[in-house]
Amino acid sequence: MSSPTMNTENGPRVVIIGAGVGGLAMAIALKKKLNFENFTIVEKASSIGGTWRDNDYPGCACDIPVHWYSLSTEINPDWPEQFASQRDILQYWKRIYEKYNLEQYTRFNTRVIESTWDDKRQSWLVNTEKQTENGLVERTILEANVVVSAVGLFVLPFYAGIEGRERFKGIQMHSSRWNHSVNLSGKKVGVIGIGCSAAQIVPEISKDPSVQVVNICRTPTWFSPRGQSSYSAALRTIFRNIPGAAKFYRNFIAVSLGIQVTLLYMRFTAPKKYHKELTPNYPMGCKRVVLDPGYYASLHRPNVELAWGGVKEVLEDGVITGKGEKFELDIIVYGTGFQVLDPALNFYGREGKDLMGYFASKGGPEAYISTTYPGFPNLFTLLGPNTVTGHTSTLYGEEIQINYIFQLIKPILEGSVKSYEIKAEVADRYNVDLQKRISQMTWTECHNHYQAGENGKNTVTFPGSAFRFWRLLRKADYHNYICIVGNDGVESRKNRILEWDV
Ligand SMILES: Cc1cc2nc3c(=O)[nH]c(=O)nc-3n(C[C@H](O)[C@H](O)[C@H](O)COP(=O)(O)OP(=O)(O)OC[C@H]3O[C@@H](n4cnc5c(N)ncnc54)[C@H](O)[C@@H]3O)c2cc1C
Repeated sequence: MSSPTMNTENGPRVVIIGAGVGGLAMAIALKKKLNFENFTIVEKASSIGGTWRDNDYPGCACDIPVHWYSLSTEINPDWPEQFASQRDILQYWKRIYEKYNLEQYTRFNTRVIESTWDDKRQSWLVNTEKQTENGLVERTILEANVVVSAVGLFVLPFYAGIEGRERFKGIQMHSSRWNHSVNLSGKKVGVIGIGCSAAQIVPEISKDPSVQVVNICRTPTWFSPRGQSSYSAALRTIFRNIPGAAKFYRNFIAVSLGIQVTLLYMRFTAPKKYHKELTPNYPMGCKRVVLDPGYYASLHRPNVELAWGGVKEVLEDGVITGKGEKFELDIIVYGTGFQVLDPALNFYGREGKDLMGYFASKGGPEAYISTTYPGFPNLFTLLGPNTVTGHTSTLYGEEIQINYIFQLIKPILEGSVKSYEIKAEVADRYNVDLQKRISQMTWTECHNHYQAGENGKNTVTFPGSAFRFWRLLRKADYHNYICIVGNDGVESRKNRILEWDV
């Protein structure tokens, strides 16, 4: 390993960690809204897209209408379908990436391993490691006035503590690490899980009648009818040619998207023999409701079988369920979700305060309005703790956060302020209230991946609507921040609130 080179370019600088849709949205906004170009996107993988790069399993698509699950500033009138495929979503982002020439700002195959706040310099030292082609590791330290962490929530595969995986002699893959060289034809495939990904994989792979699918589930999921409406050529022409039509439609989705879950839908669509087990025994909304991509209908296929009890153990040639049933398998697909907190996210703030230590002291991750942390000046997070607003577009949430972050970083990038740090008492008060609200919500009534903190602390969802999230973050509340001032005063900044149309 080489000794690190230090990169401290002149002028204020922003480092964005992650080239998923959040990181890219931030970069585009910096260019478009502030005409600011001194930023670097650091991405550990070799290409952009985050979720939409990693998840290319059969059937992968968004489950929020794509007109809403795309950038408000980059309306695309040509989406072919309401629930766009992974391929179309990735293409959209690649197109925008090129449009804004973002490649020149991106460092691929480079992982941020640690970031340290230097209080004297009022800047972050971002330690990165790049894997070079000849297998060497190149270390660089980037100095940044502002760090935006856009590392996502759904990156690290989670295997639900299933034992014996190392024993299996066949092929195994997580839904987010699909092995496209594997031909499923004629194979016995076990799909574990009944969440969003598994519910997309089962109907897709079972279209080939030679693939024998057994879907092994632990807890039933609420499903809602989805439909897959394609946008007709006429409608797309309207979106393209009538000013504001696509934007109006986008906003219409945002206000009208309700959950139309009915047990009736299950009874009409799924095979009768499964009705009892498919009926959840917890309230709707406690886990993410799946907009049915054809899962229930696929259970009628003769090559699809449903098993319950979860996987107790993986054997050399298959699995044993919690009910003691054995299934011989050639391939195992883990649709078991993600580990939502990356333990390798090392931030050391003012006086060496460690972010993981801060999270541990709070019984799990928390932030002020999902975005800032006491003790960590000029560090901003997209899709941070308690951001996900149930069944709405997370990208919309990230745009709201970007709007908020912009109001704080504009004076920093202009040089009139050195740093903003959320006051500890404000963050604490916010989180006490947040957890109180969460305790009154349906998420406490079942076991779900939202409870990622100690003692089941919910660190993922926001207890309120997307509208409430927008209202909370609409205007920067400067008085809640400790502000280290440059040449200008706090008061003058009040008149410089930047509004961004989300
Ligand atoms: C299968 C699937 C379907 C989904 N569908 C929807 C949907 O329909 N609607 C919806 O609202 N949400 C959906 N989501 C949630 C989705 O993750 C978010 O909507 C969105 O993609 C988050 O974008 P992001 O950029 O914040 O994070 P990500 O897309 O996760 O990107 C994070 C990036 O950061 C990089 N990174 C992480 N750590 C480091 C590091 N230390 N150094 C450098 N780079 C790093 C990663 O490689 C990755 O590229 C879905 C998630 C999954 C898994």
